Amino acid sequence: MSYRIGIDLGGTKIEGVLVDDNFNTISRKRVVTPQDDYDGIIKSIVELVNRLEKGKRVDSVGICTPGALSKKTTLLKNSNTQCLIGKPIREDIESGIGLDVSLENDANCFALAEATLGAGKNYSAVFGVIMGTGVGGGIVFDKKIYPGRTNIAGEWGHYILHPQGNKCYCGRYGCVETYLSGPALEKKWKNMTGKDESLEKIVQEISSLKESNWKEEFLENFGEGLATVIDIVDPDIIVLGGGVSNVPFLYTEGKKSVYDKVFSDAVDTPIVQNQLGDSAGVYGAAMLD
Ligand SMILES: [Zn+2]
Repeated sequence: MSYRIGIDLGGTKIEGVLVDDNFNTISRKRVVTPQDDYDGIIKSIVELVNRLEKGKRVDSVGICTPGALSKKTTLLKNSNTQCLIGKPIREDIESGIGLDVSLENDANCFALAEATLGAGKNYSAVFGVIMGTGVGGGIVFDKKIYPGRTNIAGEWGHYILHPQGNKCYCGRYGCVETYLSGPALEKKWKNMTGKDESLEKIVQEISSLKESNWKEEFLENFGEGLATVIDIVDPDIIVLGGGVSNVPFLYTEGKKSVYDKVFSDAVDTPIVQNQLGDSAGVYGAAMLD
């Protein structure tokens, strides 16, 4: 019997899972992410792998984290855990545990896990969307991540919705992320109503006309963003993850808004909520080859 290890490296916690070849969970552990401490993070991951491994024959170790390895430099880029940027994270973990490591960004791991075990398991082309603190995406064809030539395939979060729009941290204006991330939606609500509330509360509260403008704009941007995804990738299914995926009207009015904007008269692409929740990252990591 051989085993696989998946590690989900997040900003607040590091989670690890040991699975068998059929992705049955053998053990699962989590630790707190050392803050602003690169060496501490590497040490925690190495210890976690050693605790999970415990004498088992492990064939693969996969790490899921925000950001991507640059094809040019093999260093990590685009990560929101700032102390990891520009670091040879894969090499450092490999030398700590003595095994080869695969590293993938969180949206790709999410898409892979949902395509293999979750909402997309009966579909060939799966587009996984993360709408949380940031907005990302990943493309999986036949249970394999399609990374793209420059490792950014599926990153619809920085597609420009409004050229004169909100300023984005990436240096451009009007990116999808500045309209559809949780913080962006909460900020917009605060600007419109003066109320400082969580997205969950906002969705329950919409009643007045002014508030429904917030919803209209949200639906319009969601529709525009994902219609473009369908026009270009035309996946068999779109699976939504991240905190914003809990907004119930995305699967009714949101889906209609997408369909209205797709360049086709016969669009019926399923747009569904994920099935694995927070576990997608760690299982996606365990599936990496
Ligand atoms: Zn951007």
